[in-house]
Amino acid sequence: MTKPLPQGITLGQLNAAIAEIEKVVGKDYVYLDDIKELRSYRDPYNTTNDADFAPSAAVAPQNVEQIQKILAIVNNYKIPVWTISTGKNFAYGGPAPRKPGYIVLDLKLMNKILEVNEKHGYAIVEPGVSYYDLYNYLQDKGIKLWIDCAAPAWGGIVGNTSEHGAGYTPYGDHLLMQCGMQVVLADGTIVETGMDTTANSKTGGLYKYGQGAAIDGLFTQSNFGVITRMGIWLMPEPPGYTPFMITLENEQDLETVTDLSLPLRLNQVIHNAPMTVDLLWESAMSVSRSQYYTGKGPMPDSHRKKMAKDLDLGIWNYYAAVYGPEPMMKNNMELIRDTFSGIHGAKFHFDDTRKGDPGWDYRVKLMKGIPNMTEFSLLNWIGGGGHINFSPISAADGKASMKQYEMIRKRAHEYGFDYIGEFLIGWRDQHHIFMLMFDRMSAEEKKRAHDLFAVLVDDAAALGYGEYRTHLSFMDQIAGTYSWNDNALWDTHHALKDELDPNGILSPGKMGIWPKNLRGNS
Ligand SMILES: Cc1cc2nc3c(=O)[nH]c(=O)nc-3n(C[C@H](O)[C@H](O)[C@H](O)COP(=O)(O)OP(=O)(O)OC[C@H]3O[C@@H](n4cnc5c(N)ncnc54)[C@H](O)[C@@H]3O)c2cc1C
Repeated sequence: MTKPLPQGITLGQLNAAIAEIEKVVGKDYVYLDDIKELRSYRDPYNTTNDADFAPSAAVAPQNVEQIQKILAIVNNYKIPVWTISTGKNFAYGGPAPRKPGYIVLDLKLMNKILEVNEKHGYAIVEPGVSYYDLYNYLQDKGIKLWIDCAAPAWGGIVGNTSEHGAGYTPYGDHLLMQCGMQVVLADGTIVETGMDTTANSKTGGLYKYGQGAAIDGLFTQSNFGVITRMGIWLMPEPPGYTPFMITLENEQDLETVTDLSLPLRLNQVIHNAPMTVDLLWESAMSVSRSQYYTGKGPMPDSHRKKMAKDLDLGIWNYYAAVYGPEPMMKNNMELIRDTFSGIHGAKFHFDDTRKGDPGWDYRVKLMKGIPNMTEFSLLNWIGGGGHINFSPISAADGKASMKQYEMIRKRAHEYGFDYIGEFLIGWRDQHHIFMLMFDRMSAEEKKRAHDLFAVLVDDAAALGYGEYRTHLSFMDQIAGTYSWNDNALWDTHHALKDELDPNGILSPGKMGIWPKNLRGNS
């Protein structure tokens, strides 16, 4: 295969830069072979061409000093690097770069757990630490703290938090729980944020803000620096945990359950982010589509109803949990039962009624921070399991949820796809995740999925909704929807980019933030 090259860079320049990088990290940590090494830096779920996101090389530094030296080299040649930590950002692009030819800066070897403070409930980790790593560390040492992981736990704290990712315990808003960072800027300067920047700091993991502007967020969903260390708050193991599920019979119940949930969530009667999950998502944990329907287009209602009955699932399935001492849980559960029992057909489920159900089992694990990979069963729903996530934010409001759901389902059906989705109530909002599943072996289906996604971005924008995160292919389109006051937000991003990274070497195009030399021709 011809080596993909970054825009404006010759093969000679790329090879010269790589030779210099090899001297810094050693040849074993520079990956060049497209088949044997670089395949793992592709996005198998892209909806266009593999070549659109093919890196020219990958490099795995082992420490901050090596990162500084690599950045000096690529600055000299003006070659872009694409930073990843655990590189599992699937559904949003995986480890692949925004454009062909970038060098992937893979921080997987920087995988030390630097500190765990049980008393104050935090950990400080390097970027390569996965959720499994941190969980195993706590278990091995008998430390009574929980992690909060994304559904597929092979990702990690730094990468997921950088993407504003979410989990399922009361500590599920990862950026909110982040405390203190170390970042290497494009010119090699090392910056620490929050309290860590005071001499002999003792409170870096305890207080987020320090003095001056709180800049941690600037390094997330952006390309202003390389995060090399992060503090994350961990939840102390509670004395008790009661997960529950409510199956709901009707499409319209989404509206009621959302409205009833909000006060419970705001007042911390329900401690974690309640999830309202549609039937197909839940079913995909135990069956595949072809067991119920082999026709083309979305699965008809009659087949859905049969599946719901067989699997004892609802059209919507609501999961949440309460945590704490027994009397407190009992009190909260009574309030929760009173609140939801008025919904016609609503049925409560606990461990005893869901034995052997993989859908229940993995949610129960996630809501107590036990890492697993069960959600990947979704990829078996149809053959060829490609998928990207369309993830708009909705108000935690019944009518708004219904409106967004109906808008997406209608479009999905129009383009011949099933609606597979869930709503998660955060602190005030809802993350609505539509898993757009397609057969990645079918070029026609990929294109249809791509077209559907693009239309959804515009439809959502017309209704006043933006997405919280997105796949590489749609970063520019979505950036264009955050356009208030003549694109003032993106002008600010670009002003920062020009100042902090004048040669445009760090992840150009991440979330639509482009360096000056590439702006306008993406
Ligand atoms: C079936 C399925 C279910 C999923 N469920 C969830 C879920 O429940 N919650 C959720 O949040 N996500 C979910 N995801 C999305 C994704 O898998 C996770 O968010 C995953 O944790 C992201 O990968 P990662 O942690 O390896 O991050 P990485 O791939 O390492 O990083 C993600 C991005 O962050 C930036 N970045 C990474 N490291 C750095 C750094 N050191 N400095 C600066 N920028 C950096 C880069 O832009 C990078 O592309 C799901 C995906 C699938 C396929």
